[in-house]
Amino acid sequence: MNYLRRRLSDSTFISNLPNGYMTDLQRPDPAEPSPPATTALAKSPTAGPTPPATSPAPEKKAPPAQSSGAGFFSSITNVVKQTAASAGLVEQTSVTTSKKFKILLVIDEQQQEWPKLFRGKKIYGDNDIKVEQAEFSEISVMAQANGTCSVTMQVYRNGTKVVRSFKPDFVLIRQHAFSMTQNEDFRNLIIGLQYGGVPSINSLESIYNLCDKPWAFAQLINTFRKLGADKFPLIEQTFYPNYKEMVSMPSFPVVVKIGHAHSGIGKVKVDNHSKFQDIASVVALTQTYTTTEPLIESKYDIRIQKIGADYKAYMRTSMSGNWKTNTGSAMLEQVAMTDKYKLWVDTCSEIFGGLDICAVKAIHGKDGKDYITEVVGSSMPLVGEHQSEDRQLISDMVLTKMNQIAEKEANAPRKPLTVQPSQVSNFTHKKKNGAARPPQGCLQYILDCNGVAVGPKPVQAN
Ligand code: ATP
Repeated sequence: MNYLRRRLSDSTFISNLPNGYMTDLQRPDPAEPSPPATTALAKSPTAGPTPPATSPAPEKKAPPAQSSGAGFFSSITNVVKQTAASAGLVEQTSVTTSKKFKILLVIDEQQQEWPKLFRGKKIYGDNDIKVEQAEFSEISVMAQANGTCSVTMQVYRNGTKVVRSFKPDFVLIRQHAFSMTQNEDFRNLIIGLQYGGVPSINSLESIYNLCDKPWAFAQLINTFRKLGADKFPLIEQTFYPNYKEMVSMPSFPVVVKIGHAHSGIGKVKVDNHSKFQDIASVVALTQTYTTTEPLIESKYDIRIQKIGADYKAYMRTSMSGNWKTNTGSAMLEQVAMTDKYKLWVDTCSEIFGGLDICAVKAIHGKDGKDYITEVVGSSMPLVGEHQSEDRQLISDMVLTKMNQIAEKEANAPRKPLTVQPSQVSNFTHKKKNGAARPPQGCLQYILDCNGVAVGPKPVQAN
């Protein structure tokens, strides 16, 4: 025990705790009064959100002591919580008891200011909307099979580290969940959110499926087979699961696309056999797949985007002469939406169960033909003059979906929030006046709207 206490009073130990562990440690312990150095503790992730760290909130009355079984763990938790607080590791947030708001988690860079787009907005049932914005690298997720999902975010705001735990009601994902550059694999977080049943734009299923470009391309091949080359001119592509297969040579020049990366990274133009072999030897180090496509003599790139029911088409022409128009300087112009473009983007928006936000990328060749190369989802960067309008469209779509969900929840048949004495009759004692009550030391369980136990409710001693 002394060893554990010594270990837990070491602040480096706390900073090395695995993801999600801090969440648990910050959970208010019902048996424990707040440490004197701080006003309150961060709220339990399963019990709802915390208000901004700076806003004062009434202190929560300590509930009665629980059964002694929790003593050992709560003493560990206390030591860690107090040490974390005294070491200034966390800016602690306070506890609220009633929830009349919905939490929207936006995963995006800090400079994209999403909260202001939702300011003053209401969700069905007179709920306010609270926006928590963080990057993938700033959050951790813990989910349970009963449908609870807590997100802990550690962000720096004005030089202060803010740690918050909350249960998101909805998530908007505007960053790539996976890119084969260092530390950019966040698919575990997508799995956590899906596991916790958090609704999102785009769907978590589609986001996960778009994490491998050839996997998404396979869907485009299906569409190509259905619609034919005239209506859906998909570029020819070859897939190599690893470098060993790169012995069969394509016809040159080709573009070799290594793994799943963005912004022109891992795309190489190859003119001949010996360069192709050189590239294959580099691919051997990457442990990933490769695709090749014929190098199109490009006039311009095309991008058709669809945000809900809004369509826009753009052409991008390289100014610097780089064969990748997204590298170096380029000129972007909005062009008319044609029926052809609409068909492309509409059919692509149906893949993986539907994409609320998506874009189709294509190359318009000097031969006058179009070549569809890729479909991208809600992480697509916004481009052109209408970015603020696009952001507004996205936020309107999020609000609509959140409203629909809140309305559905409100109209769903109600289930009891706590176990009724009759439901635990085997464990209840009769009070003198005849009312049933659980025995002392027994825990009532708080149930969610599906009747699933989400946590123990301490029983007041009579
Ligand atoms: P993203 O960032 O959208 O995930 P990316 O930029 O990494 O994708 P691509 O869009 O496939 O990758 O390629 C980058 C650029 O290279 C394209 O915008 C296009 O200008 C050019 N390009 C890609 N494939 C070809 C090709 N087969 N022939 C000619 N140019 C191509």
